[in-house]
Amino acid sequence: MAKLKSWKELPCGAIIDDPKAVLDNKTGAWRSQRPCWSAEKCIHCLNCWIFCPDAAIMVKDGKMTGINYDYCKGCGICANVCPTKVQAITMEEERK
Ligand code: SF4
Ligand code: SF4
Repeated sequence: MAKLKSWKELPCGAIIDDPKAVLDNKTGAWRSQRPCWSAEKCIHCLNCWIFCPDAAIMVKDGKMTGINYDYCKGCGICANVCPTKVQAITMEEERK
């Protein structure tokens, strides 16, 4: 894990001056709930991809392929926006 900087070393306003740096911050370690995706139920509407605040929904050729747990914080938004009749994502307790 990268060494944390003190506040004196941070840029003014704590802005992120290197967009690639977010890749090093694997926010999945914060998760207490885990979204579980069912490939069989998924209709690939991509609501979850649009609304995921962490860009953790993986998509290839216009279809959902899974969830990147390195960056998923377990907020549950994807499960909430998945169509009610489909319910392809369910939230479960994270097993550490
Ligand atoms: S739980 Fe939140 S962060 Fe994780 S995939 Fe769903 S919307 Fe994204
Ligand atoms: S919102 Fe649900 S049905 Fe739509 S792509 Fe995501 S998991 Fe699949």
